[in-house]
Amino acid sequence: MPQAYEYTVGWVCVLQDEYLAACHMLDERYDGRDVVNENDNNIYTLGRISEHKVVITCLPKGRTGMTAAAAVAQNMIRSFLALKFILLVGTAGGAPMPDRDIRLGDVVVSVPQGQLGGVVQYDSGKIIQGGQFERIGHLNSPPTILLGLLQDMQRRYNDPRKPDKIQEHIKRMDYKPGFRRPTEDRLYRADYEHQGGKTCSNCIAAKLEQRPPRVSDRVINVHYGTIGSANSVMKNPQQRDRLARDPNLKILCFDMEAAGLMNTVPTLVIRGICNYADSHKNDEWNKYAAVTAAAYTKELLTILEPEEEAMPFRGGGNPKSNI
Ligand SMILES: [Zn+2]
Repeated sequence: MPQAYEYTVGWVCVLQDEYLAACHMLDERYDGRDVVNENDNNIYTLGRISEHKVVITCLPKGRTGMTAAAAVAQNMIRSFLALKFILLVGTAGGAPMPDRDIRLGDVVVSVPQGQLGGVVQYDSGKIIQGGQFERIGHLNSPPTILLGLLQDMQRRYNDPRKPDKIQEHIKRMDYKPGFRRPTEDRLYRADYEHQGGKTCSNCIAAKLEQRPPRVSDRVINVHYGTIGSANSVMKNPQQRDRLARDPNLKILCFDMEAAGLMNTVPTLVIRGICNYADSHKNDEWNKYAAVTAAAYTKELLTILEPEEEAMPFRGGGNPKSNI
């Protein structure tokens, strides 16, 4: 069995369905009861994807948000001192714009845009004259080695001659009916409120945004840019659109954890879109979006050469004193 210092990739999930999807992406699993630091309360699944030893964990049941995510990541880097980066992988609410065709099941990846490092904490700022957002504080960018890899990933995925590897990985969860792709993708106009109930059965089709069917060789689209993070859930379509349209932000999706990790460890955030951050949000797409994000992550690690991984991030101190 591999030792703790052999694990180089950390994978953090927020919800149990995301954790389940992540574990299904492993090529091999290891028994790891003995490798974890005794002061670490995280529960881990250890395994391998391609040539990388990967350690996966999830926030405790019922816990979400930046503080919980940061605590889990701190424990992880204390127990696994050779980690080179952490991938925060899960679901989020998307912000489609006329020029950004974001649909349910698509994946958003945090990459720096202009002055932003890929993630912005949008509840830590102020709205200045003209309605634009002025950021307070600064969040780090994802690790450089991964940013280069994302370009490679984009090139391969956009090349129609190459097989759709993400689709192949998604199929790993096809045997579980709850994780298959739902059929209805409904985006309601921003001025139309949810009419009550668990689903949108009371909401009328005349209030849907008219979107042409997507024509693509690929099972999902991947969008690269800024992820908005805050301490509360985004379910206000007017605010969603304002933050998505703001030329300094151009937020693609909303979560509640990313900003908690960016300044703790070198992190890349990968989010499957499960709702449109409005009052119509429900759980229908959560499981499938968890799978698409996990499938993207698996493919990213598959094309990452071991020698490209860069130096370990020694967030937990001197590894020699702990091994
Ligand atoms: Zn509705």
